[in-house]
Amino acid sequence: MVKVLVILYNGGQAAREEPRLLGTVENELGIRPWLESLGHELVVSSSKEGPDSDFQKHIVDAEVLITTPFHPGYLTRDLVEKAKNLKICITAGVGSDHIDLNAAVDHKIQVLEVSGSNVVSVAEHVVMSILLLVRNFVPAHEMIERGDWQVSDIARNAYDLENKVVGTIGAGRIGYRVLQRLLPFDCKELLYYDYAPLPPAAAEAVKARKVDDLKEFVSQCDVVTVNAPLHEGTRGLVNAELLKHFKKGAWLVNTARGAICDKDAVAAALKSGQLSGYSGDVWNVQPAPRDHVWRTVKNPLGGGNGMVPHYSGTTLDAQARYADGAKKILENYLSGKPQEPGNVIVGIGKYETSAYGKR
Ligand code: NAD
Repeated sequence: MVKVLVILYNGGQAAREEPRLLGTVENELGIRPWLESLGHELVVSSSKEGPDSDFQKHIVDAEVLITTPFHPGYLTRDLVEKAKNLKICITAGVGSDHIDLNAAVDHKIQVLEVSGSNVVSVAEHVVMSILLLVRNFVPAHEMIERGDWQVSDIARNAYDLENKVVGTIGAGRIGYRVLQRLLPFDCKELLYYDYAPLPPAAAEAVKARKVDDLKEFVSQCDVVTVNAPLHEGTRGLVNAELLKHFKKGAWLVNTARGAICDKDAVAAALKSGQLSGYSGDVWNVQPAPRDHVWRTVKNPLGGGNGMVPHYSGTTLDAQARYADGAKKILENYLSGKPQEPGNVIVGIGKYETSAYGKR
C-alpha cells in the first residue's frame, strides 16, 4: 500500500457547485475512487504551514507527494530530510520551485510536473495582461463602475500595442506561445532572452531576435514579460538595478513566479513612473498577505496595476489537463512504467531538464 499525500487549495462553495474544479481539496484531482480501488491511502488537505499542518504531519511517512503551484506546499530541505519514505513529488501543473530541487537530487526523490498542461492558459493571460496595461484598461473599467466618464483621464496613458517592442525573459513553452500570439499585433520587434536558443526555424516563424545581455535586452523593450522558472539564477532577477535599465514607462508582466521580481523594487518603480504598469498573477508568498504592496500600488496617474490571484494556469480547461496528467504520472509510478521524459524535472539523483538553471 502506498501513501499519497496531496496538498491543494480549498475550493469551498465553488468546488461543491462545479465538479470541474478538479484541483481543489473537495474534488481531489478526481483520483480517490481509482486510488482506493487499488488499495492505496490518499490524504488530501490544504493545511500546509507550520509543524501542526497536515502537510508537515503526513510528509514524514508519505511515499508520493502531489502539490500544486496555486497553493504551494513548500517542501524545504528540512522537510525533505524528515520525509524518510518519500520517493516522488508530482506537481499538478507547471513550476516545481516550491520543492527544494537540490535537496530532492541529494535524497534521490524524483520530481515531475505535467509539462505543457497549462502553457496555453498562461500565454493567453500574458497577452491579455500586456493589452490591459498598454491600453490602460483597469482604470477605465473602474471609472465606469464609479459612475464617472472622463475619456481624457484614461486616454492620456493609453497606447496601441502595434509598433511596440515586446520581449520575453524565457522562451520555452509559455514564452514561445506568447511570441506566437503576439505576431498578428504587428509589434515593432519581438525579442527574447534565454540561455537556450530557439531552434532557427522556430525563431524565424515568430521573427524573434535573441538578445544575450539582460540589461541591453530590457533597455530595448517597451513591454517585458517574464516566462522563466524560479531557480537560483532567476530569484530577484528583476531588481532595482535592472529596473534602472528598463525604458522609462515600460510595462512589465510576470506570470512566471513572484520571487523573480523584487517586490519592493517593482512597487517603487511603478510608483515613480519608471514602470507604467505591472501585471501578473504570481506572488512571492501565496496566498499573498492582505497588505501586500502589489495589491494596490499604482503609477503616478493612478493606474498600471493588473494584479490578480494566481489563476492564469488553473482555468477549467487547464485543470482537466493537469489532473489527468498528474494521474498518469502516478499510474506510471505505481505500475513501474517509464515516465514521459518531458515531465521529469529531477530524475533519480540528477536534474533531467536545463530549464531550472544552467548547471
Ligand atoms: P519551460 O521549461 O518550457 O521554459 C522555460 C524557459 O525558461 C526555458 O527555455 C529556459 O531555458 C528558460 N530559462 C531558465 N532560466 C532562465 C534565465 N535565467 N534567463 C532566461 N531564460 C531562462 O517552462 P514553461 O512551461 O514555459 O513555464 C515557465 C514557468 O512559468 C514555469 O516554470 C512556472 O514557474 C511558470 N508558470 C506559471 C503558471 C501560472 O499559472 N501563473 C502556470 C504555468 C507555469
